[in-house]
Amino acid sequence: MKLPLQGHPRRGQTLIYLLMICVILALVVLWNFDLQKIIAVKLRTQSAGDAAAVAAARWQGITLNLIGTLNVLQAVAIHDGLSRGQTSFPEAELIADLEARLCYVGPMTALAASQLAAKNNGAYNNSDFSQLLAQHGAKVIQEYPIDFPDQPYTNFPSPPTAWDNYGSMLQVLAAQGIAALPDNMQFYVDYRGQHLLLNPSFYDAIASADWCWFYHNAYSTLQTYHSWRDWDPLPIIREPRPINSEIFSLGLTRVAQLDDLRMVGGGNAQTVLRLLEQYAGRPLTSEVAHVTAQWYAYDPSRWRPWTTLIPQDFPFRGTVRPEYDYVGADAAVRLETWTDRATPGAGRRWVTWTAAAKPFGYLEGPVRPNRYGLVLPAFKETRLIPVDTATGLGGGTRPGWTTHVREHLPEYMSQGLAALQPGCWYCEQLRVWEDASFRQTGLDWLEQYSDRCHITGGPGRGGGHGGTRRGH
Ligand SMILES: [Zn+2]
Repeated sequence: MKLPLQGHPRRGQTLIYLLMICVILALVVLWNFDLQKIIAVKLRTQSAGDAAAVAAARWQGITLNLIGTLNVLQAVAIHDGLSRGQTSFPEAELIADLEARLCYVGPMTALAASQLAAKNNGAYNNSDFSQLLAQHGAKVIQEYPIDFPDQPYTNFPSPPTAWDNYGSMLQVLAAQGIAALPDNMQFYVDYRGQHLLLNPSFYDAIASADWCWFYHNAYSTLQTYHSWRDWDPLPIIREPRPINSEIFSLGLTRVAQLDDLRMVGGGNAQTVLRLLEQYAGRPLTSEVAHVTAQWYAYDPSRWRPWTTLIPQDFPFRGTVRPEYDYVGADAAVRLETWTDRATPGAGRRWVTWTAAAKPFGYLEGPVRPNRYGLVLPAFKETRLIPVDTATGLGGGTRPGWTTHVREHLPEYMSQGLAALQPGCWYCEQLRVWEDASFRQTGLDWLEQYSDRCHITGGPGRGGGHGGTRRGH
């Protein structure tokens, strides 16, 4: 808008006009004070979240490069041992031990760096986040030695065990305060898979009495459900032999021989040996490929094509270049904060922000870093990625979802309604769901109007996946 500010006649009228505008603007500003405050908090939260995600992903990339370099050094150590006629390779074992430790120390450094980045950008510690990680650290120290006796590496002397190391790193970081919670944690014992209770859309459908959602996604459950005892058990997945951190995992695995590497797109141990020679800057005997060692490799279940993770109708600008088409190691973080509103009775306004970033790089070609299976120093930069294209749990950024799934649901499954937590939005929806008259209303409505339930949107929707995983 162009204001009549200078050099025109009818000054008096203009002045009155300007005054009026000023008064109106002042009122608007006053009325919008809350909005301004919310916007300021929101902007600060966003930049802090972005900085935290980038810092974490950067350390994931640095750690992968370190592990890649150690793989090269291990090849050199085995080559040298062979040329001396050795049959065992203690130097190579020491290098592999360092790699095993880096799989935890690297991601924990990423966690520390992301908190620093968040706080440097104006984010505050969130006591819920700190508590969650402190409790998990305690659980690692107390329960993991029993649940996972096969530890990722062995200390001499032991204790402290590998689980003591990992658990206390978590506790130390939690004690310093967590401002940006890792949003794509994958615990070794976790719920994964298809179950209505693990689908956030189920709760949304209850909250909005969206009977058509039930018609398309859970009609038989709506028809046959009687009580919480009817639920199928929650699908639990238990990591058989953990070697990756649960937070900011690098998604690695171990192979005993270069022949065991999985190469999508062809190649064999000798191809990898040629690559190792390039990085080592010296020739390596082909015997290296037949020595049993501990090579750190990309886990194919994690380092699959990125395009398999990107939602079907995701508005991605351009296409993913082939060398960047990997899921790999990514870092998603969540910030939750609130601002008090000045308007009386308006209460608190929650501001949530999630961000994700990932290390990018490629091998000569260019080809994907995981092209030959073996970890090599390939990562060159870190970039923000859309959160919907990051790895994570179904509920994503939604406040309280993780706590509901990990803490409330197991109790509810064993004790029913009495175990539902007051103050949890998801538990409130379950309480509504347990009310037989609520479900009957839906059945009655569907009996009459189910023909109104047309699937809107393109293919791939309404399949029980719950639409967008992370809204902002
Ligand atoms: Zn709950």
